[in-house]
Amino acid sequence: MRVGVLALQGDFREHTEILSGLGMEAVEVRTAKHLQGCDSLIIPGGESTTIAKLADAFELMGPLREFGDRHPIWGTCAGAILLSQGAQREQPLLGLMDITVQRNAFGRQVDSFETELQVSELEVPEKPFRAVFIRAPLISRVGENVEVICRLPTNRESTDDGIVAARQGKFLATCFHPELTEDPRFHQYFIQMAQE
Ligand code: GLN
Repeated sequence: MRVGVLALQGDFREHTEILSGLGMEAVEVRTAKHLQGCDSLIIPGGESTTIAKLADAFELMGPLREFGDRHPIWGTCAGAILLSQGAQREQPLLGLMDITVQRNAFGRQVDSFETELQVSELEVPEKPFRAVFIRAPLISRVGENVEVICRLPTNRESTDDGIVAARQGKFLATCFHPELTEDPRFHQYFIQMAQE
């Protein structure tokens, strides 16, 4: 399986390294032509407005939406924002997932943090997943066809339900960065769901 990683801005290299470690062929995607050879796509973390601006300049917004009609896509952090239908302010989005996100949901004081998540969908589910949050969004609304994959531990104060990962069919959104840890289980989960 060839997994594309949108390589316009952000931490795309970390994704390609994990994918290669799992024996996958990882393709850096910068043009519509690069997309054509891919079976699935990861949109990395970074700055969602910058990624969208560059995608627009490279005439990729349309091709990315079309790719999503037929193929699995996983967005991490800024990538999750791009997949969403709304970010509670005007900005170009792909709108592929029926979710709304709240950008920079944790404010300045906890700009970045790490926490352990319990994710029953992963291999060895009893082993917590160490999640890195960097100026992260929260998923503030999920549509009827969207499955919540995990929430923040309840001891964390948050303004809403603390949804940090969700899946809608072949789309996956995570508010944190599995590419910044050594734990490949989220990448394995995506590869598996992409093959379903
Ligand atoms: N705060 C960024 C945004 O709104 C996302 C941060 C990230 O991807 N780590 O796009």
